[in-house]
Amino acid sequence: MEGLEPPTLVREVWERFGDASVFTTSLGAEDMVILHMMSAMEVGMEVVTIDTGRLPEETYALIGEVERFLGIRVKVYFPDTGEVEEMVRRHGVNLFYDSAEKRHLCCYVRKVRVLERALKGRSAWVSGIRRGQTEARANTSRVEWDSVHGLWKFNPLADWSYQMVWAYIRENHVPYNALHDRGYRSIGCAPCTRAVREGEDERAGRWWWESGVKECGLHTGWVPADFRLGGR
Ligand code: SF4
Repeated sequence: MEGLEPPTLVREVWERFGDASVFTTSLGAEDMVILHMMSAMEVGMEVVTIDTGRLPEETYALIGEVERFLGIRVKVYFPDTGEVEEMVRRHGVNLFYDSAEKRHLCCYVRKVRVLERALKGRSAWVSGIRRGQTEARANTSRVEWDSVHGLWKFNPLADWSYQMVWAYIRENHVPYNALHDRGYRSIGCAPCTRAVREGEDERAGRWWWESGVKECGLHTGWVPADFRLGGR
């Protein structure tokens, strides 16, 4: 399946894995391309997004547009209330600005733990990641075995460039997050994302106060050292 073009690959995953397959999306530009392909190819795979509780308003608006214009219902998963409460009581609402460890903890509680739940019982996971996005994604293939979650992972746009993604969006009139028109390139939670300046890296607007790898852990399998919630 590695050699299949993105729309064919997505359809093939759906035909082979059916309800055991899932597409997880943060509604980024790449994800919008895949959602458009799914809509055009009538792929009925479940589409899941994670509402961390800190998303920008524009992302919520886009969820509505996906449902309205692409005819795809997005299943929204939320973090565990008890885990979020425990974390916030210990570290404060904006803990992510304090240290990289606390930022990883927040991403772990609000995203990674939720993803684990969304992938439970699945055999195939489709994602919109590309090799060019971060150093940690440089070896991404279209088809991979994900040993962290014990399933096949499909990244249809693994070898696409940022320019290819936007050419597809413009050509096919695909809806996208309004923040992109205000200089945002990669979009995550509101307090952790800013617009990117001319010449900056596409991930420069994510956790801009940190240096090093710009990842939340969804695609790396990190577990923060200080995940000590509710006695764990
Ligand atoms: Fe928390 Fe920021 Fe990660 Fe969102 S991106 S889960 S607010 S640290």
